[in-house]
Amino acid sequence: MPIKKILIANRGEIALRIHRACHEMGIKTVAAHSTADADAMHVRLADEAICIGPPPAADSYLNIPNIISAAELAHADAIHPGYGFLSENAQFAEIVELHNIIWIGPKPEHIRTMGDKVEAKRTAAKLGLPLVPGSDGPVEEFAAARIIAAETGYPVIIKAASGGGGRGMKVVRHEGELEAQMMQARSEAKNAFGDDTVYIEKYLDDPRHIEFQVFGDGQGNAIHLGERDCSLQRRHQKVLEEAPSPVITEEQRARMGAIVVKAMAEMGYRGAGTIEFLYENGEFYFIEMNTRLQVEHPVTEMITGIDLVREQIRIASGEGLSCRQEQVQFRGHAIECRINAEDPQTFAPSPGLVKNYVAPGGMHVRVDSGLYAGYRVPPYYDSMIGKLIVYGTTRERCILRLRRALEEFVVDGMKTTIPLHQKLVDDPEFRSGDYTIKWLEQWLARAEVEQDV
Ligand code: ADP
Repeated sequence: MPIKKILIANRGEIALRIHRACHEMGIKTVAAHSTADADAMHVRLADEAICIGPPPAADSYLNIPNIISAAELAHADAIHPGYGFLSENAQFAEIVELHNIIWIGPKPEHIRTMGDKVEAKRTAAKLGLPLVPGSDGPVEEFAAARIIAAETGYPVIIKAASGGGGRGMKVVRHEGELEAQMMQARSEAKNAFGDDTVYIEKYLDDPRHIEFQVFGDGQGNAIHLGERDCSLQRRHQKVLEEAPSPVITEEQRARMGAIVVKAMAEMGYRGAGTIEFLYENGEFYFIEMNTRLQVEHPVTEMITGIDLVREQIRIASGEGLSCRQEQVQFRGHAIECRINAEDPQTFAPSPGLVKNYVAPGGMHVRVDSGLYAGYRVPPYYDSMIGKLIVYGTTRERCILRLRRALEEFVVDGMKTTIPLHQKLVDDPEFRSGDYTIKWLEQWLARAEVEQDV
């Protein structure tokens, strides 16, 4: 069924990103926004805007009855959830479908399975994905944990089945620490997620984070769009992402790509998904799957030329995948910098009024941001205010262009992480591509020491 009008149940840069894809496809948009976002760029550009509640997300962007009412009031054919908020809420997806509104996302049962990390690992194992060694289900008793940890080999990591956002994880270096850490992990998981189920994994000491972008049509056909390297993290949060990974060969891409495509086809997966792996000593280990669009999706768009949001909408409307695997071509290199309204040294949030705003431009430079001069960044939400994405025919050229683009970027009125990225792209180790998930935090600690001198 052709989609004529989409309600965007999100805010910020991703709401604008979705609006842009819709208008390029001749689809009308409805911005469902909180009172704090009445002046947001995507709200101004949307064909219709409906207020769904006050600033706290629980009362607006997570308010299911209000969002459904807005969709019905506006006669929207479909809802796009973006990322975060309700994007991985299986119950919301079911409610949307029950109201005969098209859900632009995976089948609710797949969202549910992948949202439980223990279930996700079981499913991944069945589908033939390589796993991090560890328990093959939840671990309840300490006695069982001791046996599993010894078999797995220390160090191990205790993780919450309902975990997310890098929270609820405990590294255990030897058996003496196991009992205390397990109790701690369970109580933290209970507090944060309302579920104290934990499981055990081998702790990889120095891996990279490499994820594959996949698409399925829900009918057993699937493709992959290569990998992204998201190893540059602070507190398990991604800071800068690139595609392709500087360390993955064409042969590895083809081999892992075929494995993830086979898994998605067998599952009958529908829509966009990301399969996350840790990568160490040439081996991939599945950690989780995200059943939604990712923040870092533009780097994949830059090297494949495929519009991922357009692809999501196509699939949701039943048109199927726009291309076959053989037609997907990877060209050049792309890097994304997440720009946050934060102090670049302390990372304290710094929302406020944008006094002056100049976005960089020129060949192969893309800025996804709803900022404009005179806009006030509200203090209620995530501190990411935009993304700078740059393409180059090689990684070296991409970095030179990124450096130039960062020089042009002006956001006056608040502190941003632009200076952090400027420093980062000049670092010889970053330039060499030789980094792991621990590298950025160590680099930040060194930078802090240097500043104190
Ligand atoms: P979340 O859903 O909370 O983001 P993930 O399972 O995706 O949790 O893990 C987030 C990050 O934690 C990974 O990118 C990696 O940096 C680290 N991590 C997770 N599992 C392991 C492991 N077994 N060994 C080492 N680091 C890990």
